[in-house]
Amino acid sequence: MAIDFTLAPEHEEIRRRVRTFIQETVIPAVKDFDDEGRVTSREEYIRTILELRGKAQAEGLWLPHMPKEWGGMGLGHVELAMVQSEAAKTRLGPWILNCAAPDEGNMHTLLHWGTDEQKEKYLKPLLKGVKMSCFAMTEPEVAGSDPTLIRTHAVKDGDEWVINGHKWFISNARRASFAILIAKTELDAPEGARGANTAFLVDLPQEGWNDVREVETMHGSTGHSEIVITDLRVPDSQILGGRGNGHRLGQYRLGPARLAHCMRWISQAETALDMMVDRALNRYSHGSLLAEKQGVQWLIADSAMELYQCKLMVLHAASKIDKGEDFRTEVSMAKHFVANSLNRIVDRAIQVHGALGYSTDTPLAHMFQHARWARFADGADEIHQMRIAERTIAAYRATGSTNAATGGLPL
Ligand SMILES: Cc1cc2nc3c(=O)[nH]c(=O)nc-3n(C[C@H](O)[C@H](O)[C@H](O)COP(=O)(O)OP(=O)(O)OC[C@H]3O[C@@H](n4cnc5c(N)ncnc54)[C@H](O)[C@@H]3O)c2cc1C
Repeated sequence: MAIDFTLAPEHEEIRRRVRTFIQETVIPAVKDFDDEGRVTSREEYIRTILELRGKAQAEGLWLPHMPKEWGGMGLGHVELAMVQSEAAKTRLGPWILNCAAPDEGNMHTLLHWGTDEQKEKYLKPLLKGVKMSCFAMTEPEVAGSDPTLIRTHAVKDGDEWVINGHKWFISNARRASFAILIAKTELDAPEGARGANTAFLVDLPQEGWNDVREVETMHGSTGHSEIVITDLRVPDSQILGGRGNGHRLGQYRLGPARLAHCMRWISQAETALDMMVDRALNRYSHGSLLAEKQGVQWLIADSAMELYQCKLMVLHAASKIDKGEDFRTEVSMAKHFVANSLNRIVDRAIQVHGALGYSTDTPLAHMFQHARWARFADGADEIHQMRIAERTIAAYRATGSTNAATGGLPL
């Protein structure tokens, strides 16, 4: 059994270049507006981001998740883990390397499911970084956790589809030049049918697609739109991935995209742990530094152990994707564990910082607001637990052992 966590020299070199670029070029340039809520000049913000994207492209640190023949860095998911986590040392880092959600997941989806014409029209501008996209599935009226319930529906009218419905929390919708929209096309399908939904490519802006508001959230109003769809007309050729494949396409998109979130969350959790230890080494109370108090050491130790587990889980799930093995259970476990660890570690870091941690003088408060959505977006905790339990029971039924459901490791 080969276990080797060292990177190949060429990948170590990429890691070093990404780290240097993020630390020395990106972080100093965005430090005044890393928190979008504090942006004072929108023009300066956009100009700076575009300049940084240009530099990333010039340095060959662009599209780490895409194959080389599509202008990417051609990395596997294991190598991608280290690039994503280096990039996510600042919230804007993945965006600057053009590997941020939702464009990143949409690129994978178009590459896998798009026709040649669709790749030309929709994928190529995303890869160049000249267009942005959104993915529109969730609806306010029905549980987003169960996409077979969606009510947005498309009815065939000649060579076109007429779509009506209601979506919300559609990230990036206001900046997007197209949406991947999931709508029900098989209106007579029984509840729970997986072949009832279809994905459509929708050019934006377009009559019938009404962006009514950006939803105000606990981290502000930062680009998650509510959309009312009224008699939106889409040609049949705009179907992505074939009629009735909307559910499969969504699930395909979410696997690697969930793991990419984990890679970025690990980086945030490590930043929080670094800050926790730094504060503990500098704050003095009741005769000693906080770092010398057993109560604080437990917070540090628990966080270090959890972060180590996060890293191992993500690397193992990534290696399963790279080998073409079934990764669903491992990605579910990683998504659940990393999201919850991130919340716990940032919370502990705030605790050790006291009032300073609650203030917005450090990034912790902002990180805590963002961390909260990690526990239900892209699959709520309970949905992942449900799937993990189902596969664990199935493994036992099939083999008399749960071994296959715990990573399939030779232990
Ligand atoms: C910041 C952010 C960005 C997002 N971006 C997008 C986007 O770009 N595009 C998009 O389409 N959507 C997006 N979403 C929506 C997201 O995917 C949904 O919030 C998620 O799928 C959960 O759906 P829901 O909010 O309708 O919650 P529900 O499905 O109503 O679930 C609410 C809670 O009920 C419980 N629950 C639900 N089902 C079960 C079950 N079977 N067993 C046990 N418990 C259960 C869980 O605790 C769950 O958290 C975004 C959300 C956020 C917060």
